[in-house]
This record gives sequence, structure tokens and C-alpha cells, in this order.
Amino acid sequence: MTAPLFDSHCHLDFEHFVDDFDDVVTRAKAAGIVMLATIGSGGDVATAEGAVRIAHANADFMVATVGIHPHDAKAADDAVMVEMERLVQDPIVRAVGEVGLDFHYDHSPREIQRELFRTFIALAKKVKKPITVHTRNAAEETLSILREENARDVGGIIHCFSENPAFAKAALDMGFVSSFSGIVTFKNAIDIRESARVQPLDAILVETDAPFLAPVPFRGKRNEPAYVAKTAAVIAELRGISYEAICEATTANAKRVYACG
Ligand SMILES: [Zn+2]
Ligand SMILES: [Zn+2]
Repeated sequence: MTAPLFDSHCHLDFEHFVDDFDDVVTRAKAAGIVMLATIGSGGDVATAEGAVRIAHANADFMVATVGIHPHDAKAADDAVMVEMERLVQDPIVRAVGEVGLDFHYDHSPREIQRELFRTFIALAKKVKKPITVHTRNAAEETLSILREENARDVGGIIHCFSENPAFAKAALDMGFVSSFSGIVTFKNAIDIRESARVQPLDAILVETDAPFLAPVPFRGKRNEPAYVAKTAAVIAELRGISYEAICEATTANAKRVYACG
């Protein structure tokens, strides 16, 4: 029997999956995936609606999240936020996000990113759902804002974890577990691999962030949920435990955070 896996973060509403969506789902199930979270986070409401629609159509296998990516923060006006607040209350939406700070690309002005991050933390607390956080080159500020806004009231996930063990611990102290992507399979990702090795077993998830960031040996290709098995295998190796043990732990952790099954 294949060990159970939960892809905690993928973007199945993206056009990359239009042509072979059913095959992607079939391959995911064959790889052992029992549940996945499709992320409805872009500059417009259509992405959020797309993720919610896809999750409803596959409700035995998917949950959704709703938010606005920091890249698109500048597009979030009052009308968009009204729609976000409506969508986030859908029962299939189990988290608010991805939201956060991306100071690597700076596609939106930093001040707007900060403000929108705070707005979404407040929304998450209002609807009592956890937060899926995207953070890049903004570690200290991310932690400060989570702390200042009392995000620990709902907790959540640091998705596509790209920091070090000290950050993982500081986030966990506020109720945020770490979700590891295919980056952990890259040999030069020293800090990230060390974080995956030392983080408590009940505080790690695995994700693809598909269609991006395919793990070795698929690096550079389109990513898809089935490949999360490669990431889980590398984390098992780093920790010196069995593949089955890492699958069972990460699946239980994701189900706990997303409140499913
Ligand atoms: Zn992200
Ligand atoms: Zn993402």
C-alpha cells in the first residue's frame, strides 16, 4: 500500500493544468495523495473563485484557501476585499492565504504589502481560520507583523519554507508550522534542509507549490501534486526515519491545520 500524502499547497486553478487536469488528479491519487489544498491567491477574485470551484468539484480530495498574494497586493481594493470576505467563509475554504511579504521581487510596494498582510490577518481572526503565509527576504518583518497582529490566535502555515531553523522555531512559537517544498531536494539549500531535519515532527508539512518548484529529479519541469512524494522521501532521508513515518506525520499535521478528516 502507498503511504498517505497531503500536498498542503498547490495552484490547480492555473492554466498549466487546463489540458490534463484529470490526469494530474489520477497521478496524485496513484502517488498516495489522500488530500490536497488548492490555493486561491492572485490579484483578482477569479483566482480565488477558481480554487473554491475546483475544491467543491473534488470535495472528497481537496480543500481550498483564499487570499491575495503579496505580488498582487497593489490590486486589492475595497471591492476585492468584499469578495474575499465572502469567499473565505465558504466551508471548503480552510485557510486564509497565501498572504504575506515578498521583498525579493517587490512586485507591489512594500508598504502596501505590509498593510494588506495585516488586513488579512484580521480577516483570518474574524472567520477563525488559519493563515497560509508567503514570506521571501522578509523574515524579521513577517515575524513582527504576525506578533503585532496576534496571529497566534489562529496560527497557520509558513508555506514554501525558505528560512532557517531559528525562524522555524520562532514561527512555531506563534502556532505556525513549516511546509517544505521541492526546494528541500536541492542539495545547496543548506538552511532549509537543516530546518526540515530539526523541526519537530508534528510541525512539518509537505507541499509542491505546483506548478512551480518541481523537486529533483523533475527540477525545471512543470510541477504537480504527485511529485510531493519526492519531497517527503528527501525529508525522511534527512531525518533518518522511514518514508511511511514522514508521510503519516505530515498528513496528520496537514489534516489538523486544515481541519479535515
Ligand atoms: Zn508562495
Ligand atoms: Zn503558492
